[in-house]
Parts: sequence; C-alpha cells; structure tokens
Amino acid sequence: MLNELIIQCPYCGEFITLFVEPGIESHDYIEDCTVCCRPIELHQEIGANGEPEIDARRDDD
Ligand SMILES: [Zn+2]
Repeated sequence: MLNELIIQCPYCGEFITLFVEPGIESHDYIEDCTVCCRPIELHQEIGANGEPEIDARRDDD
C-alpha cells in the first residue's frame, strides 16, 4: 500500500505526484522530475502524525 504525496519541483515549480511506502524510516533518494527531467533530491521521513513527509531540494545547491 503506497501513500500519494504531492511535491513541488524545485527547478520548474510544477507539482509532481510521488508514491511513497509508509513506515519507512528517513532516507534520501533522487527522483527525476516528470516535467523538466532534472534530478530532485528527496528526503523522506515520518512526520509527527505518523504519515510520511518529503522535502524536495535541488541537487546542485
Ligand atoms: Zn521540474
């Protein structure tokens, strides 16, 4: 069962739907933007309400 999360691409500003596995401890990964194809650095962690949360950052900061 996957959770659906909406993030904003830090490059082009488009909103992208991600499917994340709930219950996973915090981890980092890279996902290419489906609109501009640039690599988004994603940091996933469990939020205070127990639901997964994602931070999206540029890979070139
Ligand atoms: Zn983009």
